[in-house]
Amino acid sequence: MTTIKTTCSACGDVELAAEDLVLELTPLEASGRYVFDCPFCESTQHRPANERVVAILLAIGVTYIVGDELVSEDAIMRFVDSLDDWLEDITAA
Ligand SMILES: [Zn+2]
Repeated sequence: MTTIKTTCSACGDVELAAEDLVLELTPLEASGRYVFDCPFCESTQHRPANERVVAILLAIGVTYIVGDELVSEDAIMRFVDSLDDWLEDITAA
């Protein structure tokens, strides 16, 4: 099982499983933030996710939502495609 190491603002280092996180993506950008409930103090934590973090979280199967707006399935698929292109770009570099 893949574990994600992150930090809680109250508890410090915590380890989470992919299903413990939700990734909130900004429409049309390859960045966003992720949200989790701390396993120790149970407070909800928000952390910024840059492009690299977003790519890693998606790769390990973290659930994601796109913004607060209703986004069509097409738009999401285009976004995921663009992320794949971006991943190919960095892995080719
Ligand atoms: Zn905590």
